Amino acid sequence: MPQSSASDKNVRIVRATSAFDCGGRCPLRLHVKDNVIVRIEGDDAEEPDQLRTCLRCRAYRQYIHHPERLMYPQKRVGRRGDGQFERISWDEALDTLANQLKRVKKIYGNGAILLMTGGGYLASLHRGGAAAQRLLNMFGGYVTHYGNISSEGAVWASLTQYGSVMVGHSREDMLNSRLILLWGWDPARMISGTNTMYHLIHAKENGARVIAIDPRYHDTAATVADQWVPIRPGTDTAVMAAMANVMIREKLQDQAFLDRYTVGFDRFKSYLLGEEDGVEKTPEWAAGISGVPADIIASLAREYATTRPAALMDCQGPARSAMGEQYNRCAATLCAMTGNVGRPGGSAGGGLMGIPVAHMFRSPGIPAGKNPFELEGPKVKGTLDIRERVIKRIHINTLFDAILKGKKGGYPSDIRMAWSMCNNYLNQTGNSNKAAKALQSLEFFATQELFMTPQARYADILLPVTSTAERSDLMRPWPSGPYFMFSNRALEPLGECKDDLEIATELAAKLDIKDFETHSEEAWLRRLYERSTDLKHHIRDFDRFRQEGIHRIELETPVVAFRKQIEDPENHPFDTPSGKIEIYSQRVADIVDGLCPPIPKYLPTSEDRNDPLSRKYPLQLITPHPRNRVHSEMYKVEWLRETEPHRVWINPVDATPRGIEDGDEVHVFNDRGTIAIIAWVTERIIPGVVSVTEGAWYAPDANGIDRGGCANTLTRDAYSGGGAAVLNTSLVEVMKGKRS
Ligand code: SF4
Repeated sequence: MPQSSASDKNVRIVRATSAFDCGGRCPLRLHVKDNVIVRIEGDDAEEPDQLRTCLRCRAYRQYIHHPERLMYPQKRVGRRGDGQFERISWDEALDTLANQLKRVKKIYGNGAILLMTGGGYLASLHRGGAAAQRLLNMFGGYVTHYGNISSEGAVWASLTQYGSVMVGHSREDMLNSRLILLWGWDPARMISGTNTMYHLIHAKENGARVIAIDPRYHDTAATVADQWVPIRPGTDTAVMAAMANVMIREKLQDQAFLDRYTVGFDRFKSYLLGEEDGVEKTPEWAAGISGVPADIIASLAREYATTRPAALMDCQGPARSAMGEQYNRCAATLCAMTGNVGRPGGSAGGGLMGIPVAHMFRSPGIPAGKNPFELEGPKVKGTLDIRERVIKRIHINTLFDAILKGKKGGYPSDIRMAWSMCNNYLNQTGNSNKAAKALQSLEFFATQELFMTPQARYADILLPVTSTAERSDLMRPWPSGPYFMFSNRALEPLGECKDDLEIATELAAKLDIKDFETHSEEAWLRRLYERSTDLKHHIRDFDRFRQEGIHRIELETPVVAFRKQIEDPENHPFDTPSGKIEIYSQRVADIVDGLCPPIPKYLPTSEDRNDPLSRKYPLQLITPHPRNRVHSEMYKVEWLRETEPHRVWINPVDATPRGIEDGDEVHVFNDRGTIAIIAWVTERIIPGVVSVTEGAWYAPDANGIDRGGCANTLTRDAYSGGGAAVLNTSLVEVMKGKRS
């Protein structure tokens, strides 16, 4: 590919960004010549404003111009899943989809139509599924899913404890911290705010002590941590409870803070002291569960309680597990016990880390309207009762079970066809083998995609869509900005690709839907800007914003979650029924569900280390984010694959008795499936635990062995009492395999 140069007059520099579900949002300058991106540069702002581009967008052009991009509509000609397709016209493709929608509606009703949308494209106008939702609402409705694969446990915990999901501080506030606990959080991979690592490194240089608590000695721990505390997966809440116990026994808690700002601490204290169940939650008790030595737990408690201010940063990895929401709730409770909520340099916990300035949750979008299928369902906004949420929708991590079982399985409808965009759920939700079986069972499946993903292979009709570089859109950063972005269209659509909005508009005509609004992209973007209160408040000149591609918001002081509630509680109560931080939640108690206790608790679960199943499958599997792709996006980019070969991390203590050496091909398996993968024998993971990054593409061979090494071939399609997807609670065995 030719390189651009400043002197080449045929090169345009376009200000853009990605719409990935990557944890960041970075300014990119795309050098474009003859409808090809020939070079990519990152942000040209000076320190400290510069937003640093990670390796993934450095390889963005390899993704946009990848030779395997889907370039024209196709229909299936082989068996579902075999990936055999032939080229068809757009007219035939859209006629087929429209006719199937009409057929299924006529025979089975709208509830038989499943709409699968996702986080593969996060922006305003072209946001995954917005146009399709609007269209299907006008068509009479559809059934869909609820919940976020990564953050649902954290959402539930934050709503329970604080009545708000905006529980974060802007990242520069870490410079005010004297102690930072990275609890299950590896921002070097997960990003979680574009410049998190930049500010974390500065905080360390500023004298903050950094402790990483994780089963893996992960990249962030290796880079900045003063101490690594290895811990068994799923036991974080036990260690946190024991820390709280130490604080109570040694009178280290901030009782004045607890008295003024919280309710229910006494109930939590009673649990910790064993008054409720006869088991005191001592460091020795937690050590037996977690593998963290009792003296380390006690010293962590003392250091955290006596170092002010201190930021306990929990995240979403440990929350993607059975009882995951308890981890986020217990973290928030420790933040309150140490008086760090609402204080500069402190933290509120809760796992989401979002700030209420320019947050992507508040992006404007195409008005979808109401779904007629859901009109008679319960009002679920803000509810903590997950059972209410699955009356008319399907939890995201049981989507394929719902296809297979329908109403008889307790799901809202019997699904006959699915229309999908911006997701690869076969690969990214639990139990990929079951997902493949479910997609085989559908009468019809259409998908909009950029690549022939594992899920796309099961489609009857494939509709090729434009990439972010072929669209203009309004963008917002992940949880911590604060800034707004405008991503300018750099390329004319490649091949015959269309954007999702265009597809929905053309389908509307074929379905005889007259009032589906048709505006140009330009007109839509201006309308969204005009209708967005915060965008209009911060940005007066839309054209300049679009030209510059970014509007940075100057903050006088870093954003601190709940600062107002702490500084002026009379006038700014928490948005909970009590107006306080709810360590005990009456709303949760009213749900009467033993799996969802009203105070944060450690509870054993199936497929934890003590499950009798561990005799057959003795190793715990965790599935963290990859560094070199965005979940399953960018998987095809060879440059990125070379930076980190896909391997299972296994400790020598587990590898040696199994005869496994570094670089061997091994099979990781349980009753749900088997993956073939290369072993990395390393002490960077604790004994008894193996780690496979999520997102590698599912590729079963003739014997059903997944040669792609998709982590979700092994995980469970289940959810926890607070809605957390159970993806980090799986037992497996590993044995030496044969290369084929
Ligand atoms: S993948 Fe995300 S974090 Fe990385 S450079 Fe692109 S926008 Fe930034």
